[in-house]
Amino acid sequence: MNVFRHSWRSCRFTRLSLTVNGSRRCCTSENKMASRHKHSKRIEGLDKNVWVDFTSLASDPSVVNLGQGFPDIPPPSYIKEALAEAAAVDRLNQYTRGFGHPALVTALSLVYGKVYGRQIDALKEILVTVGGYGSLFSTMQALVEEGDEVVIIEPFFDCYVPMVRMAGAKPVLIPLRLKSDRKTNLTSADWVLDPDELASKFNSKTKAIIINTPNNPIGKVFSREELQMISSLCVKHDTLCFSDEVYEWLVYRGHQHIKIASLPGMWDRTVTISSAGKTFGVTGWKLGWSIGPEHLMKHLQTVMQNTVYTCPTPLQEAVARGLLLNYELMGQPQCYFSSLAEELEGKRDRMAAVLQDTGMSPIIPEGGYFMLVDVSSLNQDLSHMDPDEAYDYKFVKWMIKEKKLAAIPVTAFCGDESKKQFEKYIRLCFIKQDSTLDAAEKILRNWRKT
Ligand code: PMP
Ligand code: GLN
Repeated sequence: MNVFRHSWRSCRFTRLSLTVNGSRRCCTSENKMASRHKHSKRIEGLDKNVWVDFTSLASDPSVVNLGQGFPDIPPPSYIKEALAEAAAVDRLNQYTRGFGHPALVTALSLVYGKVYGRQIDALKEILVTVGGYGSLFSTMQALVEEGDEVVIIEPFFDCYVPMVRMAGAKPVLIPLRLKSDRKTNLTSADWVLDPDELASKFNSKTKAIIINTPNNPIGKVFSREELQMISSLCVKHDTLCFSDEVYEWLVYRGHQHIKIASLPGMWDRTVTISSAGKTFGVTGWKLGWSIGPEHLMKHLQTVMQNTVYTCPTPLQEAVARGLLLNYELMGQPQCYFSSLAEELEGKRDRMAAVLQDTGMSPIIPEGGYFMLVDVSSLNQDLSHMDPDEAYDYKFVKWMIKEKKLAAIPVTAFCGDESKKQFEKYIRLCFIKQDSTLDAAEKILRNWRKT
């Protein structure tokens, strides 16, 4: 965009522009320059980003920010101490093994060996990358090809579609559908895939399906039956599965996180993605990992060695120590993998109760740290705002300005065809300290009074 604006301006300045068929054109040499400065085709149409837009809107300190997903509760002290200790060791301030610091891949192989109930090869079956984003990106670049189709379940973590496009492939979307007639007391389990509709999305071009459990934004934890239905389609059509499980430890009472890679026939075709940012509540550390069979992981390693090469050594060392400590505690209440979810369950329930009191309808999440809220009962008139914008975008912008409360619009997680289904929902993040939740509650209760 800027390139065009710039070339147009320089034309005006040098008075070299001409009018062709009623529209202004630059001289030939500037045309050439404009085309050289043009963006690559692979990023065409990907310039809008919900995090860039809404994080800046929520940055005013007077706004209570339940938008972008990050904790304001402190991370465990041992992990911060481990980072300080690592940085004090000279050797740990230098490059480490490119595919993952030895201490970290060893710790990951121990933890996931226990979870999967199989031995994980630390050197061949794990790749450490820059956050969950880096894991997703290296997976798509390594395994998705021009002309491929990739099935994505809506609502989806927003970067999946751009990443599939950047790999040259076509995203094929399928929405979760509300199976219940109830309008209230809905949970994320009320949103399901239609098995026939899902089967209709698979064909000979389908390279992979991306699943996200627990799901961001809706909080759905896919059941064993649902995962079995997905895995049987993967096996039948010989497709891959990219399983984004960054919220794997954040599952609430009565639900269980199941790894699709552990189902029959799935290990060999699945790349599973997770993140230290979610595991220890340190989103700014931007460390993630992919786990899968050697024949797939070696291609992700090729991407890694030619792009990022290696991740920060002290951070990897600190995460390794945090994982080892909790590996020893697995199955006990003090283990952070389970204790964080317990702490969050109280926050989830508190937030749901306040929202219900104020006349809104939350969808209670089974996992993750986000809650969708149906705001249609508020009947907020937004006809004075941009008619080209979806209702939820307008609603959140209005709410930030008028109520000083930030959220994320849910149509950011949908394709065009599903926007109508989700445009009356906003997403709130509840991994927040009590004082932040108190401030949000105050806003919501005052709102109800007015
Ligand atoms: N996947 C999902 C579902 C996410 O919500 C996020 C955002 N945290 C990521 C991947 C990216 O994780 P990271 O911040 O570790 O890059
Ligand atoms: N994963 C986080 C969320 O869903 C943050 C994503 C981002 O800031 N890019 O809010």
